[in-house]
Amino acid sequence: MRSVRITVSTKYLPILLWVFVGAVAAAIPFGVLIGDPVLRQLLAPFSLHIANEKAIYSPAAYFVLLTACYLLERKMPVNPRDFLSASFRYDLLWYFGNVCFNLAFLGYFALWLNAFYQHYLSFLSIGGVGDWHPMARFALGVLLTDFTRWLSHLIRHKVPAFWAFHAVHHSQTELNIFTDARVHPVDTMVSTAIRFLPMMMFGNPVPVIMAWLVFETVYPKFYHANVRINLGPLRYLLVTPQSHRVHHGLDRIYRDKNFGFTFSVWDRLFGTQFADDTVYPATGIEGKAFPHESGTTPRSQLRSFARQLIYPFRSIAQPGVSSA
Ligand SMILES: [Zn+2]
Ligand SMILES: [Zn+2]
Repeated sequence: MRSVRITVSTKYLPILLWVFVGAVAAAIPFGVLIGDPVLRQLLAPFSLHIANEKAIYSPAAYFVLLTACYLLERKMPVNPRDFLSASFRYDLLWYFGNVCFNLAFLGYFALWLNAFYQHYLSFLSIGGVGDWHPMARFALGVLLTDFTRWLSHLIRHKVPAFWAFHAVHHSQTELNIFTDARVHPVDTMVSTAIRFLPMMMFGNPVPVIMAWLVFETVYPKFYHANVRINLGPLRYLLVTPQSHRVHHGLDRIYRDKNFGFTFSVWDRLFGTQFADDTVYPATGIEGKAFPHESGTTPRSQLRSFARQLIYPFRSIAQPGVSSA
């Protein structure tokens, strides 16, 4: 019997893959109510609405937002590149690695943080906030959170031990919508702790905190995208793909600039905003000691992934082994 071979041009494979992922996302009901507190924390990055202390898990909506960011990358790229380039695949590896880490630890870590705050830090809670308008509590919680994230980002650049973990995020030379996931788990734990604290101080209910965390999960995907856009006048308020690209800039003149997470106001207030908001520099980090990814096969990418996970611990144990 003659076998029939169906050949599909490799040109269309990425499109087929994207349609397949979209179909799987759409096949899951649009909203699945999650009542379990641990699962709720875990699924926060994929949830779009929080109601009655329950997260509504919506992979389809998450997929639509990702697709919108991706279409912008295609429409106005800084550097045109293939859909499944090696660097994009490598960031996908970090994405799935971090999803596994979050599933295993982050939900419990968030619950532990909550208990820790109630037990030891409740004196930080601002008295009488119960009488304030919920919007005022939310707005102040958001502002203080964003400020502490800006400050922690600056500290993670200035303190060598913290930089060793944060360098992993900066090592990407081709920014894309998954670069926000290229974060060492220790870096994630530090930033999660910092995110919770101010919102708790203003007595914001956990669902409100989580709704904001969802925005904070999606927005960095947009500003890590390979998109040539600086948002016009909105850049004076918000971090943009242009300003965050400068933060990742390889050249020394961009070092320690634009630390903002959501709002750019802190950099403008404290003089760390890079003045030129029209440049789109090359990205990455210097440093021969840093285990930059090498090779494009799944095996070599897994090896790089393991090396980059271990690197910060090595560089702290042996200070000679550190990047620029
Ligand atoms: Zn940074
Ligand atoms: Zn970044």
